[in-house]
Amino acid sequence: MSALPGRLVLLGHPVAQSASPRFQNAALRAAGIPLRYEALDVTPEELDSTLEGLCVVNGAGNVTIPHKEALAARCAHLTPVAARCGAVNVFWHRDRELHGDNTDVAGVDWMGKALLEGRTAGARVALIGAGGAAAAVLCAVEGWEGARVALYNRHMARAERLAERFAASTRCAASLGDALRGATLVINATPIGMRDDQHPVPLGELPKDAAVFDLVYRPEETSWVREAREAGHRAADGEGMLLEQGVRAFERWFGRAPDRGAMWRALH
Ligand code: NAP
Repeated sequence: MSALPGRLVLLGHPVAQSASPRFQNAALRAAGIPLRYEALDVTPEELDSTLEGLCVVNGAGNVTIPHKEALAARCAHLTPVAARCGAVNVFWHRDRELHGDNTDVAGVDWMGKALLEGRTAGARVALIGAGGAAAAVLCAVEGWEGARVALYNRHMARAERLAERFAASTRCAASLGDALRGATLVINATPIGMRDDQHPVPLGELPKDAAVFDLVYRPEETSWVREAREAGHRAADGEGMLLEQGVRAFERWFGRAPDRGAMWRALH
């Protein structure tokens, strides 16, 4: 992006719990950019009028639940990855036209590679959940040579619709056990464990050498990740992915890399 955006915002409903303002404001301060990143609680009914106002001031920002798909539908220009995902988590304006990207995909890719210690080729992924975050996982895994996903969701029809869009790499699993069979990476893309210590997959059902990736993040690690690590699995929660998508978003808005260290310190 060339001109500095007039406003930098996070659109979501709710947004109060988001950690993004903390680390994006730290990145802005470290870069000496005279902007403040604001979280705006915007209902679906308010989305269009909010976007109209942002267009006038050359606004940019992030989008979170429940607006990611809605924003993709409103963008005049999508990056190929956002188009493939059908969801946008980063937007900006150029010549009064709305542009969208999806940096969640890069966040998943980065964390998946770390957990698999680079061995993504031929990976067997068990993915729980079939919402927007699951679509980002499927986009990332699609880029891993020979990797396959077994997708499980409590409502089968939603999993089937998503699996169809990624048919070359993804099959719909009939049960959780079916999804887990032979998995080298088990990913939770549901909110299970966000507000309590519930586990999306019982520890005893994890394949012995599988790595564990929980997209959920909380102020402390989720109990699923903590206990999986104690049981000998490589495991990470969604914090690293959150930071990575934020780093890529900053690069989109300002055309330069942010200070990762400042962002990481602000997150903690
Ligand atoms: P979403 O579009 O609302 O999808 C939620 C998915 O979780 C659906 O498949 C839903 O199943 C399933 N689900 C919800 N509650 C469940 C429950 N109690 N038991 C079993 N399945 C349940 O949400 P999303 O955008 O994909 O986000 C999913 C999670 O990923 C959230 O916790 C979000 O915070 C996290 N996330 C993290 C990052 C990051 O950077 N770390 C980025 C994006 C998202 P049904 O279809 O059956 O309703």
